[in-house]
Amino acid sequence: MVQPANSALRLDGQVAVVTGAGRGIGRSCAAALAAQGATVVLAGRQQAALDEAAAELNLGQGRDCALAVACDVADADSVKQLFQRVFKDFRRLDILVANAGLMDDALIGMVTPELVQRVFATNTHGLLYCAQYASRLMARGGGGSIVALGSIVGQQGHAGQAVYAGSKAAVVGIVQSLAKELAPQRIRVNAVAPGFIDTELTRALPAERRAQVQAGIRLGRAGQPEDVADVVLFLASTLSRYVTGQVIGVDGGMAL
Ligand code: NDP
Repeated sequence: MVQPANSALRLDGQVAVVTGAGRGIGRSCAAALAAQGATVVLAGRQQAALDEAAAELNLGQGRDCALAVACDVADADSVKQLFQRVFKDFRRLDILVANAGLMDDALIGMVTPELVQRVFATNTHGLLYCAQYASRLMARGGGGSIVALGSIVGQQGHAGQAVYAGSKAAVVGIVQSLAKELAPQRIRVNAVAPGFIDTELTRALPAERRAQVQAGIRLGRAGQPEDVADVVLFLASTLSRYVTGQVIGVDGGMAL
């Protein structure tokens, strides 16, 4: 029997890992999951930012629901240690939000091998490492949900963003492949593709470019991290129990 919608959204007793959870979209995702009852492991490179985010969540929820663990997703050993810690502390994993990402743009004539390495190491290799260790833990527990952060430019491209767009286009192929590979283990794998969300990542763009992009958003405003987090929550929860291998745009109509 189908559960009523409100209980299908609850995540009581579940354990989630959110990468890049110290700020921006990742922090909002961690908050959305914790608000539905999950225990959330916040991962990222800056321990201080993670500690602050975890303290805010614990205080806001009135329970010990957040744990901050430093991790560089571009470093396979660091990712391994993150998931070893999850296993040691919780013995289970139900949800991975592979959110950690960076945007570093250059026209193709200015692209350096270091830039290619840096962007792909976090946005693409990091997803593969996290999905590998997460899926092992999820399989032990009988299933789970992996949600990756893609991007509108991964599907449409953008001048000056060949490297970033390539690293995000790869997310689509990874998600679709893993959805096929992991379905027998009851692990669903999906992605969200945000458009233009108001975070440090987009605040770094020149004001003129920000205004130009915002003018093309059909719903008339930049997205907020919570707009993305709500869709991630849907994909993490059993409300989306029959959804896998999908990339859901969260872009206010930018891609139309
Ligand atoms: P922010 O720059 O605000 O946050 C990025 C987060 O990722 C930070 O917490 C950062 O923490 C973490 N991070 C970066 N590199 C690593 C790494 N190697 N290992 C672990 N953590 C890392 O960006 P957003 O919140 O805007 O973006 C979140 C995701 O959404 C990204 O994948 C981004 O590409 C994607 N996205 C964002 C859009 C937008 O408009 N904002 C549009 C489309 C996609 P720290 O530096 O402490 O490690």
